[in-house]
Amino acid sequence: MGDFEFDAELIRKYDCAGPRYTSYPTAAHFRTDFGPDDYRRAARERKEAEVVRPLALYVHIPFCASPCFYCACNRIITRSLDRARGYLARLHKEIDMQAECFTDAGRIEQMHFGGGTPTFLPTPDLAGMVEHLRQRFELTDSPDREYSIEIDPRTVSPESIHELTAIGFNRMSVGVQDYDPHVQEAINRVQTPEETHRIVAAMRDAGVRSINFDLIYGLPEQSVETFSHTLDTVLEARPERLAVYAYAHLPQMFRAQRRLEAHRLPDAPTRLALLELAIRKLTAAGYVYIGMDHFALPTDDLVAAKREGTLQRNFQGYSTHADSDLVGLGVSAIGRVGRAYAQNFKQLDDYYRAIDSGELAIGRGVWLGPDDLVRAAVIQSLMCYECIDCTAISQRFGIDFKRYFRAELERLQELQADGLIYVRGNTIRLTPMGRLLMRIVAMVFDACGVSGRVWSKAI
Ligand code: SF4
Repeated sequence: MGDFEFDAELIRKYDCAGPRYTSYPTAAHFRTDFGPDDYRRAARERKEAEVVRPLALYVHIPFCASPCFYCACNRIITRSLDRARGYLARLHKEIDMQAECFTDAGRIEQMHFGGGTPTFLPTPDLAGMVEHLRQRFELTDSPDREYSIEIDPRTVSPESIHELTAIGFNRMSVGVQDYDPHVQEAINRVQTPEETHRIVAAMRDAGVRSINFDLIYGLPEQSVETFSHTLDTVLEARPERLAVYAYAHLPQMFRAQRRLEAHRLPDAPTRLALLELAIRKLTAAGYVYIGMDHFALPTDDLVAAKREGTLQRNFQGYSTHADSDLVGLGVSAIGRVGRAYAQNFKQLDDYYRAIDSGELAIGRGVWLGPDDLVRAAVIQSLMCYECIDCTAISQRFGIDFKRYFRAELERLQELQADGLIYVRGNTIRLTPMGRLLMRIVAMVFDACGVSGRVWSKAI
């Protein structure tokens, strides 16, 4: 399997629940005593910093027309466009308020529309939103921009794909999950390969620079045979990026999942076989492993970013602009501004109440202290580059790595003995086996603790 080693016994040993480290500290540690005043302070501090980090935008559109039963997203099921337009009006107000905090923010190289289903909205509404952002932030038409949008192929046409590129989106992420009809019926998401590939053809035709497919393994009715067929069909479209997520069945946390019949889920050995199959097929087809569940073609910018040291793990997975700040717009959206993470209210009523009263909708967040910043850098390095350069971390933060992380280095010894990591000089590196369990290694450096909430398992 090339750069991977697949040891089912070891995977079973370490397949415990833990965070996915899209941030450190994770959102589970955000505090409700962090509010709009803290956020504005973070924005002021950011502006006054010696090196001002570039700013990216995330816009959350929470609406979906029908529920997928595996869903763990913050979304609202409705068919009412009026309901969505009430939300859009608030989003426009929020853009104005947020823009006040970020005057002279510089060029926006990255923007992402996620959900929910952003394409639940008619394209003119999306165009109005982008136009408003253009008035309040410095959007760019540079071909290097990364303006992406999540696409549900059931909600778009080839024409609307062309319109979306005319608005400025040059990257698209397509929700696929699985092509097998029985799986699709079980997850309540019926979408034929022909329908999806017709939309992908339109993306190519419209000049979309990078296409991502999202797949999920561990869904009901999946078998090695059916998933193999799905992967073969996906590879015919040759998307530049692929994310293959593990389905985490947490019905106590996500109401939609209660409608999935647990007895139809694949057992643990089959889940492992599905993961192994995906890795074998994708690497054989020339895809490069980026980290966690993400793969990309060698020509994709993510691969260059990994090579050149500019890869960043964030709430959208991975991106190519390291050390960016992020403004999160919309209900439940999370942002990172300077030394702080901030999240908007998760409930629509709370979000509306704040915006209607003329206040930012920040519901919780956390300030990063000096220790958080060191640990965040270590975890980021593991998740992006599969190694920790102890000398570089020592120099950057003015610490003695070995003394600072004495307890963690002791805990790493078992992982080293099991062959998940190896040490060369002052560098700790993941082995081909450890790559699959990178978040288990990252958990060793997590001082916030991972108890207190339900996490998905590592595989
Ligand atoms: S998986 Fe995506 S499209 Fe399906 S209900 Fe959840 S947010 Fe909506």
